Amino acid sequence: MLRFAPSPTGDMHIGNLRVAIFNYIVARQNNEKLLIRIEDTDKERNIEGKDKEILEILDLFGIKYDKVVYQSSNFHIHQQMAKKLLDEKKAFVCFCSEEDIENERQKAKKEKRAYRYSGKCENLTSKEVEEKIKQKIPFVIRFKKPKNSIKFNDLIKGEIEFSPFDIDSFVILRKDLTPTYNFACSVDDMLYDISLVIRGEDHLSNTPKQIAIRDALGYDKEIKYAHLPIILNEDGKKMSKRDNASSVKWLLEEGFLPEAIANYLILLGNTFEKEVFTIDEAIDFFDLSKISKAPAKFDIEKLKFLNKEHMKKLTNLAKRFGVNEVYEGLLEIFKDESSTLKEVKEKFDKVFEKSVDEEFKNEREILKKEILENELEENYDDFKKRLQKNTGLKGKKLFMPLRELLINQKHGAEIKDLYKVMKPYLKEVVKRR
Ligand code: GLU
Repeated sequence: MLRFAPSPTGDMHIGNLRVAIFNYIVARQNNEKLLIRIEDTDKERNIEGKDKEILEILDLFGIKYDKVVYQSSNFHIHQQMAKKLLDEKKAFVCFCSEEDIENERQKAKKEKRAYRYSGKCENLTSKEVEEKIKQKIPFVIRFKKPKNSIKFNDLIKGEIEFSPFDIDSFVILRKDLTPTYNFACSVDDMLYDISLVIRGEDHLSNTPKQIAIRDALGYDKEIKYAHLPIILNEDGKKMSKRDNASSVKWLLEEGFLPEAIANYLILLGNTFEKEVFTIDEAIDFFDLSKISKAPAKFDIEKLKFLNKEHMKKLTNLAKRFGVNEVYEGLLEIFKDESSTLKEVKEKFDKVFEKSVDEEFKNEREILKKEILENELEENYDDFKKRLQKNTGLKGKKLFMPLRELLINQKHGAEIKDLYKVMKPYLKEVVKRR
């Protein structure tokens, strides 16, 4: 089984979506199930409703999964596992106060060295522990760092080794006995028989901790790992919340299609024979081991290009925008010259606004009168001939104001094409100018 394990703590980042897509593709390629695990262990950071939002985004992108679990529903198991580690002296009760820890952290910072737990409570006798618990001194449970290094072979990054110092004696159960991320994640990957973890490389340093936990619990089935390189913004920095385009919601609001976003995220850091495809098509040729090791740079122009390609396949635009079907032809025209759905909608809305442009005002008035006072010809050439003849306007002075009367823009689609689709409501539109 593979898994996608989002935390319901904020808007979905494109990096997370990319992880979800890759997990889905590989699960399908390997004929394995896909689990969605909502990692809600950190009560303070959880945001209500984000879990639903994540699932809705997965549905929107066509990422099908077999099961959804909330990590918090396994807290009792996490606690049992922590107890097992305690009983086997692979974990210990730690009474160091938050202040003590913070002071040590600050000290390490001053001395320019990485903070590590001092080991102070590691060798308390059971008597001392009992005594302190009786005195109601708050405590956490820490994992005893392993004696030997942890090595693993990452499918993208290759062989990686972490020392016990890197792993440290980290907290596995908090004061309120809820599990920390690393502990819950490690136990759950074991419980659900996860075969391969695909996630962002920001989790690379968590992996040896998670492996060490399972080793200590006696789980000997290997879980493979693939850590995806980060996505950089256009300035070459890690794409963060401050970059609008990092938010899946923002991209959707900007009118990018899920198909195009998914296509773009699969293409990022990859090279394939073809560039335009769907997630399901990618199942045939995607190769996780061939992903570039270098960070990938986000390029909105490339996304726009793909969006345009995927927009070509769209039908029923009027329905999508919730407008009368009579406008389908006009929407089609706008679609062909736009890169996003938002652009299409803006062009469409503009048709129904009043013109404020001063240039060609007179010409517009003359043409408006001519159009409103006569019957419209079946075919555009006859219509054009009449306008030329009756108004005396020609060239730029005819076509620019005429296009403005139709779509409220001087430049853009061919008037001939516009006339064909707008005829049933052309007078209505012209009246508004
Ligand atoms: N909950 C973690 C996150 O959203 C994912 C951890 C994982 O995939 O192991 O970053």
